[in-house]
Amino acid sequence: MPQKTPSFNTKPPKVKTFKQAQDASRYGHQWKKLRDSFIKHHPICDCSRVKVYHQQRIKTISVAQDKRQAVLVDHIQPISRGGANYDVENLQSLCYRCHSVKTKKWD
Ligand SMILES: [Zn+2]
Repeated sequence: MPQKTPSFNTKPPKVKTFKQAQDASRYGHQWKKLRDSFIKHHPICDCSRVKVYHQQRIKTISVAQDKRQAVLVDHIQPISRGGANYDVENLQSLCYRCHSVKTKKWD
């Protein structure tokens, strides 16, 4: 039975950081599909009612009184804190401003 000759002339595997590896597994094809569908159904960020996860509870903060076009789908309870990745109940559409405020202060 012919055996494949081991090759010693291959490039070393590309090394990913731990975070890159985590992100790749969290944000693969399934996530992109869900995100696209979610933002299609929730295209506006309600900037006066942004949900944040604080002290193991979900509360609502007001970033501003207007509403803007949502550009990001955010996990209300971050995955790093036990939030469900693919649960629509844990998702919200946000504009850049609200996402920035939320992640800086609360995530
Ligand atoms: Zn907003």
